Amino acid sequence: MRKVFNFSAGPAVLPEEVLQQAAAEMLDWHGSGQSVMEMSHRGKEYMSIHAQAEADLRELMQIPSGYKVLFLQGGATLQFAQIPMNLMRGKASADYVNTGEWSKKAIKEAKLFGKVNIAASGEDRNFSYIPELSSWKLDPQAAYVHICSNETIGGVEFNWVPDTGDVPLVADLSSCFLSRPVDVARYGLLYGGAQKNIGPAGLTIVIVREDLLGFAPAGTPSVLDFKTQADNDSMLNTPPTYSIYLAGLVFQWLKRQGGIAAMEQRNIEKSAL
Ligand SMILES: *Cc1c(COP(=O)(O)O)cnc(C)c1O
Repeated sequence: MRKVFNFSAGPAVLPEEVLQQAAAEMLDWHGSGQSVMEMSHRGKEYMSIHAQAEADLRELMQIPSGYKVLFLQGGATLQFAQIPMNLMRGKASADYVNTGEWSKKAIKEAKLFGKVNIAASGEDRNFSYIPELSSWKLDPQAAYVHICSNETIGGVEFNWVPDTGDVPLVADLSSCFLSRPVDVARYGLLYGGAQKNIGPAGLTIVIVREDLLGFAPAGTPSVLDFKTQADNDSMLNTPPTYSIYLAGLVFQWLKRQGGIAAMEQRNIEKSAL
């Protein structure tokens, strides 16, 4: 029995059952005679793993049709840049809510691609709170509104979803992915690195509303264009196959545990330790 609890902001502890399954399948996945790591990402075995992982994530998060699920690389940190690259859509600025260290990093990168309006900030009280929506200075012309759902370092967490009207809401879910139910339809885009809550490092998950695709400006590299990635089912180039496989095992394990509501309970128990 492994008895390690990792409360740091690095990679998370994975369910032992999942690691056992991965170990058992390491040398020979389902009689294929090969490890998942050795499979061609275009072969039918890996394609089935990839499709199943997406289907299970869709089921767990109840992701509505009209949203694409992208399995990317580069971590949430690359998303800090890739999101403004794709979502500015020719608009003058984007709104950001500054609730701590991760928000600040997202803001710094966004400034490379356009004007950033800090709609609200918790900096005046050392990032100990989420400013009330009534105090936010939202721009109705903004390309999107960005929030960090859970500030992993400072600890402030949104337990409500801001209503941003017609302006798409974008949220960094890195440290709360699958830890509690999320009403995906309230967001334009959700993203996070897999390593905090889902699986090994190397996989970044982006869930994006389809009407926001196709606006990357000319000159955007293909791997960084959400539309190209969506059109290629996240297989424009070699995806992080083993990380996706392991994330898929975690999704199946979560389903066996009763889904995200059960995970939420597990996290409440974990935090009581
Ligand atoms: C860890 C973390 C990041 C950075 O994630 P990487 O995948 O390492 O780039 C971004 N946002 C939040 C909220 C995080 O906890």
